[in-house]
Amino acid sequence: MKRLVMVLFLVGVVAASRGLIPWQLVFAPLLGLLIWSIGIASFGSLNRGAAHIPDGPPEAVDPDERVTYTCTGCGAEVLLLVRGSAMPPRHCGEKMHERREVRSTRA
Ligand SMILES: [Zn+2]
Repeated sequence: MKRLVMVLFLVGVVAASRGLIPWQLVFAPLLGLLIWSIGIASFGSLNRGAAHIPDGPPEAVDPDERVTYTCTGCGAEVLLLVRGSAMPPRHCGEKMHERREVRSTRA
């Protein structure tokens, strides 16, 4: 396919340089191929799926540790009980900030 495009492009360049065809007929198909390849590449990224979805099962958080996530945008705070992935959750369109508190062993 690439070889055919190159041959057609070279034939078009020769024909356009001799004035047989306008230059638009040489570059318009190349622009179309570029737009087509960008569209196919963007659909390919949708086909691969989201990278943030974890592979393994969710894990319970250590009971001696209190993990909270805070949103800097609105101040919402979330207590984590079960960890699904290492990525922090998002709120207000941004990643939430993780805060870990370890339970004191002194009684
Ligand atoms: Zn928020």
